[in-house]
Amino acid sequence: MLPRQIAFLASSFPHARVFAMHTFRPLVAILAVASSTATAQMAPTPLRSADITNIRYDVHFDRATAEQRRVEVTTTFDVAGPEPVILSLPAWTPGAYEISNFARWVTDFDAKSGTQPLVWDKLDGETWRIQTHGAKTVTVRFTYVADSLDNAMTWARPDFLLFNGTNLFLYPEGRPLSFPAQVTIRTEPDWKIATGMAARGAPSARTFGATNYHDLVDMPFLVGRFDMDSAQISGKWVRFASYPEASVSGAVRANVWDWLKRAIPKEVAVFGEVPWENYTVMQIADSTYMGASGLEHQSSHVDVITPLAIQSEFMPSLYAHEIFHAWNVKRLRPAEMWPYVYDHAQPTPWLWVSEGITDYYADLAEVRGGIVDERGFYALTGGKMNEVQASPAVSLEDASVNTWIHPVDGSGYIYYQKGSLAGLLLDVMIRDASDNKRSLDDVMRELYTTTYKAGRGFSSDDFWGAVTRAASGKSFADFRTRYIEGREPMPYEAVFALAGLRSFRAPTPRLGVTSQPDTGGVRVSDVDPSSAAAEAGVKVGDYLIAVGNIEVADQEFGVKFRSQYGNATEGTPLPIRVRRGTQMLTLSAKLKFAPGDYRLEPVPGAPAKAVRIRNGILKGEITK
Ligand SMILES: [Zn+2]
Repeated sequence: MLPRQIAFLASSFPHARVFAMHTFRPLVAILAVASSTATAQMAPTPLRSADITNIRYDVHFDRATAEQRRVEVTTTFDVAGPEPVILSLPAWTPGAYEISNFARWVTDFDAKSGTQPLVWDKLDGETWRIQTHGAKTVTVRFTYVADSLDNAMTWARPDFLLFNGTNLFLYPEGRPLSFPAQVTIRTEPDWKIATGMAARGAPSARTFGATNYHDLVDMPFLVGRFDMDSAQISGKWVRFASYPEASVSGAVRANVWDWLKRAIPKEVAVFGEVPWENYTVMQIADSTYMGASGLEHQSSHVDVITPLAIQSEFMPSLYAHEIFHAWNVKRLRPAEMWPYVYDHAQPTPWLWVSEGITDYYADLAEVRGGIVDERGFYALTGGKMNEVQASPAVSLEDASVNTWIHPVDGSGYIYYQKGSLAGLLLDVMIRDASDNKRSLDDVMRELYTTTYKAGRGFSSDDFWGAVTRAASGKSFADFRTRYIEGREPMPYEAVFALAGLRSFRAPTPRLGVTSQPDTGGVRVSDVDPSSAAAEAGVKVGDYLIAVGNIEVADQEFGVKFRSQYGNATEGTPLPIRVRRGTQMLTLSAKLKFAPGDYRLEPVPGAPAKAVRIRNGILKGEITK
């Protein structure tokens, strides 16, 4: 997953933060967690359905249902035995670590044997019990409300549908999820279908199949009018499907293909194999969506983005991140999530590896593939250091576990950036300890082979054992205690020096306010009590008009402010003009400096070994 505020949407005002949260889910998630806890207390006995086989899902979506933003779902199966059939929908989609209770969007539920209606009731929010009275074949129908623009959910437009199997496909309670199943899409003849699921029979049948439920719900579908083309990358077909039609065309589309052709082979090189038969990048651009977010699957991923993001430099990093997940988390996965269960949360302390190290490899794929240059890689790394600096101190393990409850203190997703930096530090230390003969790649490859390929998730012993083996026996106990389990600031300087790198924070003029644009202008939403703005009397609710002679509404405000005051002396008079209610006020501030953004740069004349390590990271090489 990559839920992110994105830099290109940030206001030019230096201390304004424009949050581009991907949805307004937190409240829903908190309520949902509470309700599933209550459910667990009410129903302590495990449920067990009558055995069902020959499961077929029929998804009906055409112009008429699209207009109503509805999907009609029919599930047909054979029943063994007289016990009730107990069917559930998942409460979450793997990769989106939050409880969503997809059954909320189900209406008009109905069960029949032939034309004979069957009696049914609900056992909990997402579970239905059907009395079959010995019926051999049962058909269950419901209508699903498709109005959620979210890559884990189901969303319809008059000419388009995104759906996730977790939203629509019922499974029998208390039975193995190893059952094969078939999906038929009934739609307009001239509408397209994109999915990672394998077709069954003639393409005109529009029937697909999966060998088990985990795969079934890990292969989302796009149905309708959209653009799709394909290319061979690393010996396999990659498809790029984008909605709406013509949203990514011409040179912009060629650019997307260039990014994919540069990044994917560098990711394949880490593991030494392509894990998919074919891979589908599914992209939805919609102006009602703020920011850009991706959700990974084993042979596809779904990006939901604002149209403003299409040509941004964020996109190649989003693609590289989601595609790396095809190895790291969809296959190589923490033991706590092996296998996935769908009716409750599966917290793990390892999202800093599954998400953070994935994001480190996204940066590496970009620099190794030439999408960004060396300086671009340092800028990406420095940006992550800034985000960690701005977050409350939280351990990587705690942040990983916490994500399910969406903490409001700003630490909720910091395991992405902080985990990525932990990946970089581990990579440098492994290369240093092995004289650049091994790297973090060896750790990822070993875990992929010894855990995923052995049919299990990785444990703490697996992970730290692999790190120590790659690092020629070096112990990481101290590093782990202080920086992974603990909250100490990461030892950037000591470790960067081993790779001929250094970081610094140049003093920067700072007002000390957080602001948010609204219909009235740029409104102050927070004032740092020790800042120049606070000392001058700026208050929350003021509208900022000008600082010195620079209008705050100026698109270039940040650049102009820093260039005008960057070399001034601390204490220089700094008039701040604000509107407070109906009053215009000019407040007398005095210029203050604060440590600025982190910058990372190579150390001139670094020792030869450090230079080898730095180049090894940037180029994906080791010393033979
Ligand atoms: Zn991710």
